[in-house]
Amino acid sequence: MKILKPARRVDAVPQVNVADLAAQGVQGVIIDLDNTLTEWNQNHLCPEIARWLEELERYGIKLCILSNNKKHRVQSFAEACGVPYISNARKPWRRGFRRAMNLLGTRPEQTVVIGDQIFTDVLGGNRSGLYTILVNPISRREFLGTRLVRQLERWVLRERSPRRGHKQLFRSKTKEGQP
Ligand SMILES: [Mg+2]
Repeated sequence: MKILKPARRVDAVPQVNVADLAAQGVQGVIIDLDNTLTEWNQNHLCPEIARWLEELERYGIKLCILSNNKKHRVQSFAEACGVPYISNARKPWRRGFRRAMNLLGTRPEQTVVIGDQIFTDVLGGNRSGLYTILVNPISRREFLGTRLVRQLERWVLRERSPRRGHKQLFRSKTKEGQP
């Protein structure tokens, strides 16, 4: 079940150290929207995440939102932040990830995926050969189908053992594999 394992887990997006990403040669980040950047179907961006986005810009790391949600939802948020986006992405299919890398102008080894769901963000990112970071969902409020999938995710995460032999990206104070 390696394909379902994130390379790294953090509590929330701001814990991903941008200077470390840059030092590891990361040039692009593909990021999920709902429950990763904002609450589900909300547009409010918390100040910590806003600062993190500015930090990416300072380091010249490009960002693309990749969301399975509908266009009008993703567009309103992405345009307000000035970030390119792909909606109706059909993650975990690889096509959306490929399109995102085209927009970013990056190769897989220069690209990181950040998201809150194993069966879309992590699975799709792993299938595409990208470094995947799983965050805890911002809020428990979400689409009913997603809530059911969470039960399966909990099962997968319990099975999780630390990934060995993977490039040691993003060393930080956060312990690997800690929720
Ligand atoms: Mg999400």
